[in-house]
Amino acid sequence: MKRSRMLVAAALASALVLAGCGQEGAPGAQDSGYEPTVAENVTVEGSPTFDAITQRGRVVIGVRDDQPGLGFRDATTGDFSGFDVEMARMVAGGLGFGPDQIDYRVVPSAAREDVIERGEIDYMVGTYTINDNRKQRVGFAGPYYVAGQSLLVRADDTEITGPETLQGKAVCSVTGSTPIQRVRDDGLTDQIVEFQTYSQCVDQLQNNQVDAVTTDDAILLGFASQNPEQLKVVGDTFSDEPYGIGVPRDDTAFRNKVNDLLQAADDDGTWQTIYDGTLGVSGTPGTPPAIDRY
Ligand code: GLU
Repeated sequence: MKRSRMLVAAALASALVLAGCGQEGAPGAQDSGYEPTVAENVTVEGSPTFDAITQRGRVVIGVRDDQPGLGFRDATTGDFSGFDVEMARMVAGGLGFGPDQIDYRVVPSAAREDVIERGEIDYMVGTYTINDNRKQRVGFAGPYYVAGQSLLVRADDTEITGPETLQGKAVCSVTGSTPIQRVRDDGLTDQIVEFQTYSQCVDQLQNNQVDAVTTDDAILLGFASQNPEQLKVVGDTFSDEPYGIGVPRDDTAFRNKVNDLLQAADDDGTWQTIYDGTLGVSGTPGTPPAIDRY
């Protein structure tokens, strides 16, 4: 299980290197070419979130902008791309809204529950691990992918090979993320450096301010692919991070609808098209995980 995920991850790294040299423009941009089908006459009975979207005439989606292959904004064109962004567009299409009726809002890890609770976004698609703690404040459709915690180090590092080798090392991760919590809970090191975004951590690593960055393998491999001469991902994954689409906690009708759309995308090959054109560009097979309707 873990091994096959590392293979997927390794393939992702090389795929992103290729994508970085391809026609997509900015390194890190990754687009499957998938064009969402925009559904007509959609109704979602009893969903305040869907009512708000309909009234506004636009969908507001929380995303990330610095995660190559997952959620990435091209600084030149302003376009968003990646696996998470395409899943977000698929859901919007199923709700009856095309890509030109989407407003993207960049939301860091620590702010996700807040912005969902305050109704500032309709849903969040951004490497968002489903867990019981977060379920006290938000709802989750999915999972639509399962990542795992891993480590990014400088390419010439020979000392850090896994979580048990982090003692005495400065490890960077992001406020409000599950990986930083795991470093604390498991006492992996007492030198924890904390930022709002993973790109800040990666800068620290490249500037020798920290010794490792930890978070999901899919995220770290995207960064490694941007700088394969300087950065590498090491060791096996040491957690399961099932990615969900974050929705308002009490809007069960909306959560059910998003799960229906994810299920349909799994069944009709849309998930596969999106995966194969983003995280799976190299041809490494991936399949959607079973949806958990709690
Ligand atoms: N998937 C983890 C989480 O939801 C780490 C990635 C992130 O910070 O977005 O906390």
